[in-house]
Amino acid sequence: MAERTMRRHRYAKIVATVGPATSTPEMLKALFLAGVDTFRLNFSHGVQADHARVHAAIRALEAEVGRPIGILQDLQGPKIRVGTVRDGRLDLTAGERVRFVLEGSEGGKDAIPLHHPEIFAAVVPGQDLLIDDGRVRVRVVGIEAAMIEAEVITGGAVSNRKGVNLPGTLLDLSPLTEKDRADLAFGLELGVDWIALSFVQKPSDVLEARTLIGDRAGIMTKVEKPQALERIEDIIRLSDAVMVARGDLGVEIPHEDVPARQKELIRACRLAVKPVVVATQMLDSMVNAPAPTRAEASDVATAIYDGADAVMLSAESATGRYPIEAVAMMDRIIRSVEGHKLYHSIIAALEPGEEETPPHAVATATATLAEAVHASAIVAYTESGTTAARVARKRPAVPILALTPNIDTSRRLSLLWGAHSVHTDDVDSYEEMTTKACHHAQEEGFAKPNDIVVAAAGIPFHTTGNTNNIRLIQI
Ligand code: PGA
Ligand code: MN
Repeated sequence: MAERTMRRHRYAKIVATVGPATSTPEMLKALFLAGVDTFRLNFSHGVQADHARVHAAIRALEAEVGRPIGILQDLQGPKIRVGTVRDGRLDLTAGERVRFVLEGSEGGKDAIPLHHPEIFAAVVPGQDLLIDDGRVRVRVVGIEAAMIEAEVITGGAVSNRKGVNLPGTLLDLSPLTEKDRADLAFGLELGVDWIALSFVQKPSDVLEARTLIGDRAGIMTKVEKPQALERIEDIIRLSDAVMVARGDLGVEIPHEDVPARQKELIRACRLAVKPVVVATQMLDSMVNAPAPTRAEASDVATAIYDGADAVMLSAESATGRYPIEAVAMMDRIIRSVEGHKLYHSIIAALEPGEEETPPHAVATATATLAEAVHASAIVAYTESGTTAARVARKRPAVPILALTPNIDTSRRLSLLWGAHSVHTDDVDSYEEMTTKACHHAQEEGFAKPNDIVVAAAGIPFHTTGNTNNIRLIQI
């Protein structure tokens, strides 16, 4: 029989953004083979028809390789931007006065268009507006109904449609713009697995998206506003996954605070049993160079030592010159960290306090038992994915083979630490589950005859959330 296992020899997952550099079926396949587990379609760029073609190509690839592949639709969200400016670019100098106006286009320094009434309603003198990822900083000195006067603190170029951040200001914005709603409907129709919500500020933002999404896709909240950090526990509880979106977060809060927030977010997600992705600039110099800096390699490694479920590539894979090399580099860094003799003890030391419910205790016992008997795999039979996620929360030094009769679950699990998911037939009895566990553990290359696997499941089957059974099986 031909080798049909496509087993990744690592626990943490790789998310890669698809873009002009990588949207052909050939490139998508090369990226998958290099190690991508979940592809991100960034709806801040491109048109729906192109995203639909990529989506179809990924599903075709999935069928070809016989492995579930995650697709993450990232909605643009209420990103604030300046309008068009005179000659496409204004050079602002520190100390000079500029004006932003609610109406118009092609304005000069005394009429920079900013078509966002919420900003005019929310800012107060003394507050800073950051333009173009924080490169340019201006401080508000005066406000009128349709005009904001500001002093330039850090000068630089402002060109058409550059992003604007207002750190520390809660804006009266829905997390879903008209464009987002149209894109969301489109994505759900395509059948994406995850929807990422940009610029979430408060728990009700997640609830608003939930009313539209239901359980048709998992909701991944991007944490990139300081306001979200204030109510992070509620936000995580309402979300299905979280992205530490360091690009915008690093504009909104000081650079030096981002690493600590990253650690706190990973910890909070692990406690809440929600997958967490660390994103942005991880291997940034690989946009233009075939190798990363030492600092970038160390950044990926840190996210893995912190216990992240996944690490993400943005421009590196979307528009960069070395997308495949970037994925391969990430894969090697992850495997190196996970092979390090201190890795498991570091991760175990980060274990947040247990939530002592019976399902959690069973998952914990499963992980402990599997390690104690040197099991070849933990087989998690899981409908919704929660049994697998609870086991993964323990970060056991044993791979997790997640068997699920639900194809959507099998795809969503491509984000979960340690989970190798397999879409399998429904089972009706415990004996059938055991037979399947043995069969797939061997077929997927985890175990051979006489090996031990530990199976965890919720009985009765066809219910979700009740991890209540452990079985030690000798194949
Ligand atoms: P973006 O989100 O790439 O859509 O901006 C990620 C981030 O801000 O880090
Ligand atoms: Mn962002």
